[in-house]
Amino acid sequence: MTENKKILDVKDLRVHFFTDEGVVKAIDGVDMHVESGKTLCLVGESGCGKSVTCRAFLGIVQPPGRIVSGDILFYHDDEVINIAKLPPKGKKVRSIRGKEISMIFQEPMTSLSPMYTVGNQIIENITLHTELSKEEARERAIHLLDQVKIPNPGRLVDEYPFRLSGGMRQRAMIAMALSCNPNMLIADEPTTALDVTTQAQILDLMLALQDEYGMALLFITHDLGVVAEIADEVAVMYLGKIVERADADTVFNSPKHPYTQALLRSIPKIAMKREELDPIKGMVPNPFRRPDGCNFNPRCPYAMNVCRERVPGISHINANHTVSCWLYEQDTVEEKAGA
Ligand code: SF4
Repeated sequence: MTENKKILDVKDLRVHFFTDEGVVKAIDGVDMHVESGKTLCLVGESGCGKSVTCRAFLGIVQPPGRIVSGDILFYHDDEVINIAKLPPKGKKVRSIRGKEISMIFQEPMTSLSPMYTVGNQIIENITLHTELSKEEARERAIHLLDQVKIPNPGRLVDEYPFRLSGGMRQRAMIAMALSCNPNMLIADEPTTALDVTTQAQILDLMLALQDEYGMALLFITHDLGVVAEIADEVAVMYLGKIVERADADTVFNSPKHPYTQALLRSIPKIAMKREELDPIKGMVPNPFRRPDGCNFNPRCPYAMNVCRERVPGISHINANHTVSCWLYEQDTVEEKAGA
């Protein structure tokens, strides 16, 4: 295991989408950091901005979206690189993407081409980012396929992705993501489409590889069962903002933000009757018509007048636990409503 150190520090990140209907503030002032050797789970309902946040880290936000302000500081050797300020198609960000920071997706065919064999795609990534020859890269590809527990990797290396099962494709994508020993792996709902058994196997595999490689793992999910299994720390996101962050035990046992509390209450439990389910009331607001004040106020059982008028700042419950809610004493300067 390597010593934990900060490898990504995100400050007041804002990503907006400029559409004909108006501007969607998909990411609206996110602060977060990621440490090597640790697993941070980014959780929240669909559409709250989790995936866009992580795409911004790799400079792959799709138009009409773009980073409008903020910093994404990536600590690499003795260098600090601000990814938010790099041209998205520039050489520098391309040298980071796939080498220093890799990403795996829910759907493996997002990153695996059906036109080339699994081996060719891994070999291409290795030769693009390292000095290894094609032969050496092929050896490494077979080794990686073996590491992700693909049976008979010497044969599978020459197979096309569509010939593999969903679970095997996911393993091949993980092998490709690990091919250049990344410092950080971003996993965007990588097990959501898999059956429960395969899901458990893939999660175990990812944690074992993280331990071996000492990399940071940023895991995006809406599944709190997965979070409970793998997270060291949890960041809860709602409508483009991190509303609570703490270690996993604290989030599960002593959540402070009403949205986190509602998420936890909504988890179905074994032997629970249908009428006992407690889903979060209301819907995520239309991104073009955000409420004034706290984004969660139309759904919050504790909403006060101030919540409908002013955006809460950050409160430190303790050194490792932050929450953005008017129920707690504010220790940062508040933002203006609608800012
Ligand atoms: Fe609820 Fe107010 Fe806290 Fe928002 S700021 S979560 S509306 S209590």
